[in-house]
Amino acid sequence: MNFIAPTPDAPAALTPIPALSDNYIWMVQKNGHAIVVDPGDADPVLDRLAQGLILEAILITHHHHDHVGGVQALHQRTGARVYGPRHENIPVRDVPLEEGDIVDLPGTGLQFQILDIPGHTAGHIAYAGRLDAGQIAVFCGDTLFAAGCGRLFEGTPAQMYDSLGKIGSLPPDTLVCCAHEYTAANIRWALQVEPTNAALQARAQDTARLRAQGLPTVPSRLGLELQTNPFLRTGHPDVRAAASQHAATPLNTPQAVFAGLREWKNNFK
Ligand SMILES: [Zn+2]
Repeated sequence: MNFIAPTPDAPAALTPIPALSDNYIWMVQKNGHAIVVDPGDADPVLDRLAQGLILEAILITHHHHDHVGGVQALHQRTGARVYGPRHENIPVRDVPLEEGDIVDLPGTGLQFQILDIPGHTAGHIAYAGRLDAGQIAVFCGDTLFAAGCGRLFEGTPAQMYDSLGKIGSLPPDTLVCCAHEYTAANIRWALQVEPTNAALQARAQDTARLRAQGLPTVPSRLGLELQTNPFLRTGHPDVRAAASQHAATPLNTPQAVFAGLREWKNNFK
């Protein structure tokens, strides 16, 4: 993929806005203009906009209420355009999107490419693009989480495996902007899968420190996910062995390992 860098007049600021119980609404702001991703609630966004920001666009990854609950109110108050997956029902959507589409956002100069990433929901999409000359970010909703992945509500393990593979093939320094603070619980489970993974052990400590200070653990770097997220490590012999042992049957393909891991995590307390 080629990612066009936005105009270099001011660096873009990326902020996870905490919302509802454990959601993040991502905001990117540049030159006094802003976009938000998955506003499950309008109020925390309106608070930020009160600092004098103009909301240009509302980007939606999938139809779940904790991602779209604030769309109507924000659209009404600001007139911002609403972008969302073509194959899902999104409130007041102006621009339907699917893989291959490229979105140019006025005001911020940001440009995003759309990836179809079904699995959590049937029409889930991701937005990938440069925040500035050096930094790529992906807004992946409830598909890839820090040290985890979304549940399969509408898709198959094979679909989710392919979707994670698409995200996993972005450059390793890509910022992974997921929509929930699930990292600590995900790491507790990941340590069951790979108890001797040193990068994962270090991540557990970093995460505990951040959460003790009430700070977000995201965005993460894709490279760290590739080192520590079991769902992106289905080809690793240790992960395959652990998943096979847990399933009490040999899992011989990365897809089968993924399905085994997802089932394991579903039942992990
Ligand atoms: Zn969801």
